[in-house]
Amino acid sequence: MNISFDNTTNAFAYKSDKELKGAKFLFKTMEFPWFVQIGTRLTPFIMKTGLPVHGIIRKTIFKQFVGGETLEETAEVGEVLGRYGVQVILDYGVEGKQGEDSYDHATEEFIRVISYAATQTNIPFISIKVTGLARFGLLQTLNEAPRLRSGIHDHEAETAEWDRVRERMYTICEVAAEKNIGVLIDAEESWIQDPVDRLSMEMMEIFNKEKVIVYNTIQLYRHDRLHFLQMSLDIAKQQGFMLGIKLVRGAYMEKERERAFDKGYASPIQKDKASTDRDYNAAVALCIDHIDTVSVIVATHNEESNLYAAQLMDKKGLAHNHPHIHFSQLYGMSDNITFNLAKEGFNVSKYLPFGPIRDVVPYLMRRAQENSSVSGQTGRELTLINKELKRRKG
Ligand SMILES: Cc1cc2nc3c(=O)[nH]c(=O)nc-3n(C[C@H](O)[C@H](O)[C@H](O)COP(=O)(O)OP(=O)(O)OC[C@H]3O[C@@H](n4cnc5c(N)ncnc54)[C@H](O)[C@@H]3O)c2cc1C
Repeated sequence: MNISFDNTTNAFAYKSDKELKGAKFLFKTMEFPWFVQIGTRLTPFIMKTGLPVHGIIRKTIFKQFVGGETLEETAEVGEVLGRYGVQVILDYGVEGKQGEDSYDHATEEFIRVISYAATQTNIPFISIKVTGLARFGLLQTLNEAPRLRSGIHDHEAETAEWDRVRERMYTICEVAAEKNIGVLIDAEESWIQDPVDRLSMEMMEIFNKEKVIVYNTIQLYRHDRLHFLQMSLDIAKQQGFMLGIKLVRGAYMEKERERAFDKGYASPIQKDKASTDRDYNAAVALCIDHIDTVSVIVATHNEESNLYAAQLMDKKGLAHNHPHIHFSQLYGMSDNITFNLAKEGFNVSKYLPFGPIRDVVPYLMRRAQENSSVSGQTGRELTLINKELKRRKG
């Protein structure tokens, strides 16, 4: 294998000079932590006031990280990626909407997205947040009370509410299974993750018998998750189903630490970055060691982890397009990894969110924060963009 993540010719072949310059401007802006801090606090508020900021957001951060406001708009981006051998994880970016009507509407939207994905050759997955189908407070209650966790509910209303959530997920997975599209269930905050994990396992047990339709997400920035992965694997083997797993480091670190500190419990987050990295790679190895039972998505922008997974595959003599091993990066980030992996024949996809600007704001704010941190991604992105712009100038 002769892979280089420094090859910017491959990485940015799909972007025009103008688009590259736009990306450069955005990443340069995000280099200023104070700007991102003010921006991420003010933007959700300004959006609510109705001030005309849609245009600016649309042309900058939205364009970089989101496929479009509608499925139709997003289809164009998906087609461009497909031309370079890159697949797509379609993400209907609904976040923070509450109410039974919203959850039912989201269920219909997910089914529409699955039906569209099934008509395309390069969209093998869609992604889902359980908070798009369920009340956050309900998930929190289910997470906290051991009595409720074991299925004994004090209130019939809560039992009925949870059953409706399970039915929504069942309907989505049933259509996905029929159309052979994978459903990736996102991991969220640790204080709601328990019911999300249980629901994911329940769906896997039903739908992952012959092929892998349902995937849970494991956040390795949590110090208990490598053990949880091993437990999930044991259960899958015992119960005779395939384990679908998306491996991530985790997106809510500051929030997790702050809450643990405020409420006075031990933080679920690893003691340092090196521990997260160690567990991430150990999880990759565990999945690849059990590749007959596991289908894994290595979802990371970390070059070492991507290389580690690719080299492990070669060492074990696994084909680059092995149907149980996928790589994925978020749209707008780490094109150097995505497009170079694609060139080497690996299954690799972009996680491509879409939705009205106001609905994807929380997602955009997370991307801005992630890219602004001093040790973060921005420096690397800028170096690569500058290198490519210089190369094109000749
Ligand atoms: C396709 C895809 C799907 C995703 N889905 C989800 C999801 O469902 N749920 C979710 O939470 N996130 C999700 N993410 C985001 C992901 O969790 C990370 O936030 C993001 O990818 C950055 O981590 P990294 O592995 O790419 O890179 P890196 O830059 O190597 O790692 C940065 C990450 O390391 C961890 N970290 C940083 N500093 C420390 C420290 N001091 N101590 C301990 N850990 C530290 C944090 O998780 C941080 O985000 C997804 C990412 C991708 C690419």
